[in-house]
Amino acid sequence: MLIVMDRSATGEDVGRVVRAAERLGLKAHPIPGAQRTAIGLTGNKGAIGPAAFENLPGVFEVIRVSHPYKLVSREFHPEDTIVSVGGVEIGGGRIVVMAGPCAVETPEQTIAVAREVKRLGAEVLRGGAFKPRTSPYSFQGLGEEGLAILAAARKETGLPVVTEVLDTGSIDLVARYADGLQIGARNMQNFELLKRVGRTGKPVLLKRGMSATLEEFLLAAEYVLAEGNPNVVLCERGVRTFAEHTRNTLDLSVVPAVERLSHLPIVVDPSHGTGRRDQVIPMSCAAVAAGADGLIVEVHGKPEEALSDGPQALTPALFGELMGRIRPIAAAVGRSA
Ligand code: PEP
Ligand code: MN
Repeated sequence: MLIVMDRSATGEDVGRVVRAAERLGLKAHPIPGAQRTAIGLTGNKGAIGPAAFENLPGVFEVIRVSHPYKLVSREFHPEDTIVSVGGVEIGGGRIVVMAGPCAVETPEQTIAVAREVKRLGAEVLRGGAFKPRTSPYSFQGLGEEGLAILAAARKETGLPVVTEVLDTGSIDLVARYADGLQIGARNMQNFELLKRVGRTGKPVLLKRGMSATLEEFLLAAEYVLAEGNPNVVLCERGVRTFAEHTRNTLDLSVVPAVERLSHLPIVVDPSHGTGRRDQVIPMSCAAVAAGADGLIVEVHGKPEEALSDGPQALTPALFGELMGRIRPIAAAVGRSA
């Protein structure tokens, strides 16, 4: 339920509603707005109706929220949420481009690519230190050594760092080094992991599971918000279909669908979303045209030697081309890049 307070409601009125909700075993989330305060209520198993709140002083309206997700919904929070990743705001007017290698391999490789993508306009560095690989025999990432390399690349370039956290046991370690915690597609419904990253309060880049519906995707984000962490950036990275001309099918229609249902920003990953270098630039253009708040793109100095995801990595030169191609499209949809 969403309780909309009168414009003239006092702090005391809000407090009374919060206490009434808590007495009924619900959790109250006051959402102050420019005109009036709203209070989102979660934890209702269905038994409690609007009558419990309608007659309290200062209550203007009680709205039943029709979706199973609450805190991520626009009904609860009409204004767009802006998430700051190390000072870079995602979800405002600007298209934020995050770029870097799939995996951190060496200090030289990571720092060189960080310098290049920064020079070409990226604002956040990506790179995996803990890699979720389909085969146990594939490169699994450098672990803490990789995190230290990312921190060195941040020091060198000033770019904040987003990197994946694979399990609950390494959250504290990854959070010590990273500006943003990535939850990978394979972990989108790892509910314990979602709760624990929620408790860190750090920005979370939540990738859509490869067969997740939009409702499942938003409910995964709800886990993070329900722990008191509103700093979630959603990421469309392609879903598994019958198509064989791509690694995944990049579902760009999810961008306007998210924008309608949720206040959270959404970025697009055209690298995993296509798996093919030749499709990354056109799909980046399409993502910006569709209204995405940003992109996350894999870039490698020598893609043919990459230890993971070489076939989808852009060279720095191609990344420069991508930036040049998206700028006029961003301007055409009222954004800048
Ligand atoms: C990645 O970003 O390197 C990654 C493994 O992505 P996903 O979880 O989307 O496959
Ligand atoms: Mn990758």
